[in-house]
Amino acid sequence: MKKPTLQNILGSISSFLLFFLTVGFIVSCCMMLFVSILAETMELALTSDNVAAAAKVTFWNVVLITLLFKLADYIRRKIMVERPTRSITEATEKITSGDFSVRIKPMQSSGMEGFNQIAMAINQMAEELGCVETLRTDFIANVSHEMKTPLAVMQNYGTLLQAPDLSDEKRIEYAKGVTDGSRRMADMMTNILKLNRLENQQIYPEVSEFDLGEQLCECLLQYENIWEKADIGIETNIAENIQVKADAELLGHVWNNLFSNAFKFTPSGGTVTVSLTTTDHHAVVKVADTGCGMTAEVGAHIFEKFYQGDSSHSVQGNGLGLALVKRVIDIMQGEISVESAVGKGSTFTVKIRRM
Ligand code: ADP
Repeated sequence: MKKPTLQNILGSISSFLLFFLTVGFIVSCCMMLFVSILAETMELALTSDNVAAAAKVTFWNVVLITLLFKLADYIRRKIMVERPTRSITEATEKITSGDFSVRIKPMQSSGMEGFNQIAMAINQMAEELGCVETLRTDFIANVSHEMKTPLAVMQNYGTLLQAPDLSDEKRIEYAKGVTDGSRRMADMMTNILKLNRLENQQIYPEVSEFDLGEQLCECLLQYENIWEKADIGIETNIAENIQVKADAELLGHVWNNLFSNAFKFTPSGGTVTVSLTTTDHHAVVKVADTGCGMTAEVGAHIFEKFYQGDSSHSVQGNGLGLALVKRVIDIMQGEISVESAVGKGSTFTVKIRRM
């Protein structure tokens, strides 16, 4: 508890004097009115002696009443104002020092609704900050973990490259290992930066009108080498002349991620199907594959950052692709969902507003 300072004491005295003078003035006016009406109606003679005696009694009455009121007000403030203010202040000080587990208990007595509202808002803020803190620490742990693998691979190949009597074939193989590792790290950094910019709203969608079917075909054609090499069949059912108003570059990230996943998780001989249809207000894009599919447990986490359900393909990604896709779709106020069955394949459905 804070010690009372001279300034506080002087402040209390002056507020008491102000209160006393106000009450004294009001009581005096009322008394004078009452006495003069009484004297007039009852024809009493007012002498200076009995007026002085009455004034003295009134004065001490006013002093006593104001003191009692001040005391009652002091106790009321201690209980109703200072106590909740103290617990709120203590909680905010703890939050400031990084303890987000703190919660303020709601106050039961009546008249505390205002304080309870503030307490609830602070509790909610502490909870949100706690979540952000967990995300931040998880994020750092994930990035460090994801960087360790390619770094270890690169170190390994670097050491192998130092051997003096290497054949050309081996030298090329090891150098390729270093290049692949650095490419993987560069990809991850690009994705992290993109995601960060999207999350911090530093990217403002540049909306333009374009043909969605054409964009899908252009994106899909970039994977021609991959599907031919892996002997994956392609089926398309893309409606023509579907114009959408959206950020074409951001939407391009969505299709690229969905297509690259479809080809990555589909074994040779499988099929990837891309379709574009429309409803009254939406364009609906489906990317289906006949790949490994995923369990419901995996499906529930795929849009989280760094989540990788399939460890056998983890070398080819970093678990950021679908987190990025989800963020873009959220920014566009669209919807994304997935249906999948293990061993049968997956279908991603994206719904975006047409105009
Ligand atoms: P990455 O592909 O780099 O692992 P993503 O964020 O793109 O990261 O995907 C997260 C996880 O979702 C993948 O690790 C995989 O388990 C699952 N997944 C995504 N697309 C498919 C798909 N078409 N078929 C099966 N699993 C998929």
